[in-house]
Amino acid sequence: MMTYKNFTVENDADGIALVTWDMPGRSMNVIDANVLEEWEAIIDQVASDEGTKGAVLTSGKKAFGAGADLAMIQELVGRYQAEKDAKPEESAKALFEGAYRMNQLLRKLETSGKPWVAAINGPALGGCFEITLACHARVIVDDPSVKVGLPEVKVGLLPGGGGTQRVPRLIHTQEALQLLLQGKNYDAKKAKSLGLVTEIASADDLIAVSKKLILDGLKPVQPWDVKGFKLPGGPVYSPAGFQLFPPANAIYRRETQDNYPGARAIMKCVYEGLLLPMDTALKVEARYFTEVLRSTEAGMMIRTLFMSIQELNKGARRPDGVPENSIKKIGVLGAGFMGAGIAYVSAKAGIEVILIDRDQAAADKGKAHSEALLDKAISRKRSTPEKKEALLNLITPTTDYNMLSDVDMVVEAVFEDSEVKKIVTEQAEAHMSKDAIFASNTSTIPITDLAKFSKRPAQFVGIHFFSPVDRMMLTEVIKAKKTGDKAIAMALDFIRIIKKTPIVVNDSRGFYVNRCVLRYMSEAYNMLIEGVPAAMIDNVAKMAGMPIGPLMLNDETAIDLSHKILHQTIRDMGEKAVDPRHVELIDTMVEKHGRLGRKNLKGFYEYPDKPAKKHLWPGLKDLYPQVDPDTLDVQELKNRFHATIALEAARCVAENVVVDVREADVGSILGFGFAPFSGGAISYIDGMGSTAFVDMCKRLAKKYGSQFKPNKLLLEMAKTNEKFYDRFNPYGKPAKQKAA
Ligand code: NAD
Repeated sequence: MMTYKNFTVENDADGIALVTWDMPGRSMNVIDANVLEEWEAIIDQVASDEGTKGAVLTSGKKAFGAGADLAMIQELVGRYQAEKDAKPEESAKALFEGAYRMNQLLRKLETSGKPWVAAINGPALGGCFEITLACHARVIVDDPSVKVGLPEVKVGLLPGGGGTQRVPRLIHTQEALQLLLQGKNYDAKKAKSLGLVTEIASADDLIAVSKKLILDGLKPVQPWDVKGFKLPGGPVYSPAGFQLFPPANAIYRRETQDNYPGARAIMKCVYEGLLLPMDTALKVEARYFTEVLRSTEAGMMIRTLFMSIQELNKGARRPDGVPENSIKKIGVLGAGFMGAGIAYVSAKAGIEVILIDRDQAAADKGKAHSEALLDKAISRKRSTPEKKEALLNLITPTTDYNMLSDVDMVVEAVFEDSEVKKIVTEQAEAHMSKDAIFASNTSTIPITDLAKFSKRPAQFVGIHFFSPVDRMMLTEVIKAKKTGDKAIAMALDFIRIIKKTPIVVNDSRGFYVNRCVLRYMSEAYNMLIEGVPAAMIDNVAKMAGMPIGPLMLNDETAIDLSHKILHQTIRDMGEKAVDPRHVELIDTMVEKHGRLGRKNLKGFYEYPDKPAKKHLWPGLKDLYPQVDPDTLDVQELKNRFHATIALEAARCVAENVVVDVREADVGSILGFGFAPFSGGAISYIDGMGSTAFVDMCKRLAKKYGSQFKPNKLLLEMAKTNEKFYDRFNPYGKPAKQKAA
């Protein structure tokens, strides 16, 4: 019997091999080159050993496996990028062979002549789910935490291990396209009802049930290799196919705006692959997989949406040498919109919360927010009455500052008014222990200014949440002039416990995220003033990959807030700091027409009672002479949104507000949904090259104004087409920028 590093193989008395995948020194199984090599040997061993009837594949870890090692894919792509100019043909061939390797291996497994059963003992995602799909049967454990799915599309890829071919041969094409294009995970029941798995078993019976399938005579032949096989959704060229693919294509375009090469390739793989026999179909998939790996988008998405988020979550920016804090109890000041949300996410993570407001009724109302969220979760079967009770027990609504005596940290979310913030800071600090940290959730006041109200500015930090707090994954930690390492570490530990992703930025008006968002809305104002039809503005933004148009976003954040910010900026920094045309537009909206946004059902949009639908306010057309939309260049409008945001991100890097380029990218995607296919606002520039970006900005500046003027840093980088990820390499090469 051979021995393996990543697998154990045990033959039982019935002649069934139990293959257990358990990679040493890793908490999770992932597919890497070594795993593939060993696994091929096992497939050969099972196939050639006459005494072995078949094999059951399971995992020795809690999860079955998370998929291909994205670091391996990154390396494969990196090698291709480095060699493609010198050896275009060889490097493309090597990339294809790397991409085709697992695909071939899985085909070998399903045609090896011996039956294989996957015993799915824990979550099986991506490439690991594809392994199970190549087995002749799948048994899954009956446990709500066990999910299967193909999330590749979310990092810009497609399933390249046969997933685009086996899924639509196992289940109806329409369901298959949803699974592949949405990248959602399915639990055991849903997987069984769709026909993705063969059986459900209890954890104790999993292996026995799997083995029994083989003993009962499971055929080592996949349905699609049997003569006369019929596709569950019907052939492509059939009435069923004609009804399916045209609308599927329309939905695909609506959902992606055709911005994602991975998603586009999935459509092509399914359509073309279903016309072909399996061996050729798999080759088609491998070709598209290679093409997508060569795309800028996939490389950028893997880096930001997978690597960087993971690195930031693991504390890439946590100060060295500060011991880990266990946060058991916090105080939240202000039980309004944000405070109530902060209390909820904290209690959900098991932290005790003292929720303080001016009077008991206001504090109680803040707690009621958690109750409402939990009731909704229960009605959707995402929580239980017991969990609700336990969570609510952790929140104490009160007006009594004495209760802050033993909290680890206070998060302040009272009115956006320096005077009110001063009063509560002093009141809280009078009762907090000397080690506790004070964090403000202000969205506009520099933390350095607020820290002046504190007796211990080293323990004063900004933690900027986004609304709605329970759904937004990003939090911005703001370092003021005197903020110490301990406060930063505590803020990051808190964010880790509540399972959000942090970025750490230096103090600046609007910090990082809101500076970019304001540019987005401001360019929309410019377009309105030029007479671009409002519908075009919001639609083009969506085509540019933004989740919500700038006018609708402004309705959500409130137009009177924009009014307040513009006038506050004039008071603080003078008339020159704002565009007078913007002031006129917003004054007209708020003062003349009383249009405050979603909150009074009157904004750039109208919000009529159902069944009527939300629609643009017709009066907008009368504010400025309208341009004929047919004369507008859609690509240029898209470029304006991308460029104005990317430029602001580049300014934040140059000003040392953002210290780590990964944070600029992650913050832009998780904070306001900046075109995820670009990999974020800074990767957008790197993707097109700083020279091309600067040329484009100069052209836009000439036509539309100084907001597009590239800064000094970009002009310098453009001379050599330098990349941000080289100049500010977050992985160690001496960065030319001083650390925060
Ligand atoms: P809000 O008006 O909904 O809530 C503020 C709460 O503070 C109210 O319940 C009020 O009664 C309470 N409060 C006022 N004075 C108090 C005092 N002296 N002692 C105790 N409680 C007091 O406001 P909000 O939208 O939750 O904003 C709170 C903070 O969060 C602001 O600093 C705001 O800038 C910031 N913020 C808001 C958003 C957002 O989208 N709304 C996003 C990020 C940050």
